[in-house]
Amino acid sequence: MKHESGSISINTENIFPIIKKWLYSEKDIFIRELVSNASDAISKMKKLDAMGEAELPEGNKFEIKVIVNKNDKTIKVIDNGLGMTEEEVKKYINQIAFSGAVDFLEKYKDKSDDGQIIGHFGLGFYSAFMVSQRVQIDTLSYQKDAAAVRWVSDGGTEFEMSDSDRNERGTTITLYLADDSLEFTEEYTMRTTLEKYFAFLPYELYLEDAAKVEEKKEETKEGEETPAAEPKKPEPLNDTQPLWLKNPKDCTDEEYKQFYSKVFHDFNEPLFWIHLNMDYPFNLKGILYFPKLKHEFETNEGQIKLYYNQVFVADNIKEVIPEFLLLLKGVLDCPDLPLNVSRSFLQNDGYVNKISTHITKKVADKLTSIFENDRENYNKYWDDINPFVKYGCLREEKFYDRVKDVLIFKSTKGGYTTLKEYLENNKDKHENKVFYVSDENQQAQYIKLFNENGMEAVILTNMIDNHFMSLLESKGAGLQFNRIDADISASMKQENTGIPEADVSYLESLFKETVNDEKLKIQVESLKNETIPAVVLLSEQSRRMQEMSKMFGGMDMGHMFPKEQTLVLNSSNKLVKALLDLKEKDERKEDVKLVSEHIYDLAMMSHQTLGPDAMAKFIQRSNEILMKVL
Ligand code: ADP
Ligand code: MG
Repeated sequence: MKHESGSISINTENIFPIIKKWLYSEKDIFIRELVSNASDAISKMKKLDAMGEAELPEGNKFEIKVIVNKNDKTIKVIDNGLGMTEEEVKKYINQIAFSGAVDFLEKYKDKSDDGQIIGHFGLGFYSAFMVSQRVQIDTLSYQKDAAAVRWVSDGGTEFEMSDSDRNERGTTITLYLADDSLEFTEEYTMRTTLEKYFAFLPYELYLEDAAKVEEKKEETKEGEETPAAEPKKPEPLNDTQPLWLKNPKDCTDEEYKQFYSKVFHDFNEPLFWIHLNMDYPFNLKGILYFPKLKHEFETNEGQIKLYYNQVFVADNIKEVIPEFLLLLKGVLDCPDLPLNVSRSFLQNDGYVNKISTHITKKVADKLTSIFENDRENYNKYWDDINPFVKYGCLREEKFYDRVKDVLIFKSTKGGYTTLKEYLENNKDKHENKVFYVSDENQQAQYIKLFNENGMEAVILTNMIDNHFMSLLESKGAGLQFNRIDADISASMKQENTGIPEADVSYLESLFKETVNDEKLKIQVESLKNETIPAVVLLSEQSRRMQEMSKMFGGMDMGHMFPKEQTLVLNSSNKLVKALLDLKEKDERKEDVKLVSEHIYDLAMMSHQTLGPDAMAKFIQRSNEILMKVL
């Protein structure tokens, strides 16, 4: 071939400095593009062979090699794919690849952040110029009688073509790096980048550090006596057959767990997983893991890795993956996904919607199946998975509809209950009402009261539970959640014990005086439980209003939503009875005051933490009472 030079046929200024500037933070995508091209070239070669249009030599083994060389500041990407003829270089590189880059630039240049193309897919071959001052292609086509071609460009729109000395089928891309990109000649940097994108590439991928090899040679020359050590057989960087591509039937639990710890570096075992394996009507493969929470109050930081034909695209792309699934860990391979479009486009894409619906269904099916077939383990998992399930219900109505019957609640009676079971088991005591505990320590007295009266409450202590309860209330006609300290149920009271009117008004006025709080209501009841002198109740309605006003910027709206607290005095309790007995005894007035103040403080303490002043008074009074004992 005669030496030829030309100008790329689009009238554009040098676009590479612009590309470089825009993509600077993701400079490593050039390696993703070049190795992807190498992989594509091999796939095409395989296809030609399968169709009988080309014949592979005996013992052909497809592979891609990346060679970094610090000494001459180059990177080579070498494949033994189908190669290109001279005509093809002109067409695919000078025209298609270049116009691809120009297109990319057009799309990208005046888009704000949310118009970004996912992982900048689509820039292609010309991304090589992000890091290079010169790029050279040496390629030999598989076609009979093809001659090897060399193409060289210095990053403008100018190129030169000539004969190449490449003598094996395939393509070598040589990057002569610009001085600001030399970090990619570091073996470690390149290895990390390759592992990030290509840990699951379908063809074996090798990395070689030419500078290191040269050094070794120098060393052995010096120490003439020692024979050169047998070079180790290099290991490919990648696993060419990722677990997600296997048939779920052929995968063992051990394999799933190993894959999980390798990909997510999480040494806790996952609870369970879902293997997505769909060919039709669309192609979707992947594995979703339900991780174990590390701490009780941790909200899980998930990680969903998106792949495109076994090439990593990005983590946690919320335009493709239903948001609540981002609490899980997993890999998804979506080869039909259009990645060279803007993120906002993806949100309205039919394929993306189908993926999202399919995954949501699969997750719900899995939960239902464990609930139905292995309730014991389902209960065990619940503490770890419930924030995820609840979040999913809140974010996706479809998900809620699918899992509503397998939502369970930890019960104060021990074990777990569904809403249906709870309502059924407690309907003789209260209908359509669910009592719940939001803080097991703080509400211990009330739990005790419940237990002693054979009543049941569910434990809902997560941040998300308030929203979750509102959701359930909006779905269940008349259903109402009440915190355990909101009310005294009829079944806790003694039957047919009228309390004399005079006693009631005496206790009311005594405690009004003691407590000195205008807003506090006082009520006298005769409870079945005789050990507790008093409890404080806080109406559900007013508490919710208060919590809401706190959420909105912490504004003090206390005057708008007063705290509706009630002090319930238990007339069947000995201490309260004793107070009544001392009603007329003026000489014991001080003692009555002391005891009534203490009863109030104790009831308050079982309800909320005391403020510093109240606490100081409580301690001082306790000491006074102790003095009376001795
Ligand atoms: P795309 O990969 O999206 O087609 P690129 O800009 O990455 O766009 O590449 C343009 C074209 O150049 C490819 O479609 C292919 O025909 C050709 N090409 C690039 N790299 C190679 C390679 N290593 N071997 C064979 N052909 C290649
Ligand atoms: Mg490409």
